[in-house]
Amino acid sequence: MRAGRRCKNIPMTARVYQTEGIIIKKYKFGEADRLLTLFTADFGKVRAIAKGAMRPKSKLGGNVELLTHSQLMLARGRNLDIITQAQAINTFLPIRDSLELMSCGFYLSELVDTFTEESVEDREMFDLFLNTLKELAEARDGERILRYFELRLLSHLGYRPQLQRCSNCGKQLQQEINYFSAPQGGALCRECGYPDMAARTLSVNALKVLRLWLKCDFDTARRVKLNSELTREIKNIMRDSVKYVLEKQLKSIEWMDKLAAEGNHLPVKQDTSEPGHQ
Ligand SMILES: [Zn+2]
Repeated sequence: MRAGRRCKNIPMTARVYQTEGIIIKKYKFGEADRLLTLFTADFGKVRAIAKGAMRPKSKLGGNVELLTHSQLMLARGRNLDIITQAQAINTFLPIRDSLELMSCGFYLSELVDTFTEESVEDREMFDLFLNTLKELAEARDGERILRYFELRLLSHLGYRPQLQRCSNCGKQLQQEINYFSAPQGGALCRECGYPDMAARTLSVNALKVLRLWLKCDFDTARRVKLNSELTREIKNIMRDSVKYVLEKQLKSIEWMDKLAAEGNHLPVKQDTSEPGHQ
C-alpha cells in the first residue's frame, strides 16, 4: 500500500536537518508550545514541537499555521524533533479567507495524515498535496479539486480503480450506463452491476471524466465541464472508494458538507478551533 520508502537520508548522528513541509495538524502543547504534524518533501510525515509558537512575538507563529507551506529547520530530539526555524513559502491566504475552502484544506490534510506513516519519504505525494493546495487557492473550485486529488491519491497508493474493463467479469465496458463498486475495485458491466445492490450506476460521462483524470494534470482536469449531476455522481463514487479503502469516514467530511450545504464563505481567523485540529 505504501508508495514511499523509509528515509535513509538522515544520518542518525545528524542533529539538525532542513526540509520543506506543510503543516497538517497542530495541537496546543504545554503553555506556549505547539505539537505539529508536518508532511515534508524529504522525510514524509514528521511530528515536531514548535517551542513558544503561541507567544504573540514568536518568530515561528505565523510560519507554522495549518496548511502553511514552509521551509523548516529541525533538530533531533529524544522523542520528538524540534522546529528551530520556519519561513513560510506560501500561507495560502485565499484558502484561509474562506471557511468552505478551509474545510476542503482540512479534508486534504486528514487524507494525507490518515494515508501515511511517519518517516516514509513520498515526494510524489508531497507534490500532489502541494499542487492541490495551490489549485484550491487559485481556482476556488473545491469540489473538482478534491475529487481529482482523491482519485490520484488512491491511484498513487495502489488503489487505482479499474475503469477499462468490468472489475468482475473482465469484459470491455460498453458506451452505456455501467456500474461502479468500490469493494470490487472499479467499474462493473451492466450484467454484473445490475444484481449488485451495493453498486452505483456509472454514467458514460462520469466514466470518461474519471478515465481522463487518471492520466491528466491539473490544467486539463480543470477544463472538464461538470454539471451538478455529474459532480454529485463523481463525488459519491470517490467517497465510496476512499471510505472503502480507509474502512471509515473521515471527521472533516461532516464539517465540509455542512459548510457546502450552507454556501458559507465567511472569513476565517488564523487560529480557529476546527474539529480535530486543535
Ligand atoms: Zn461484468
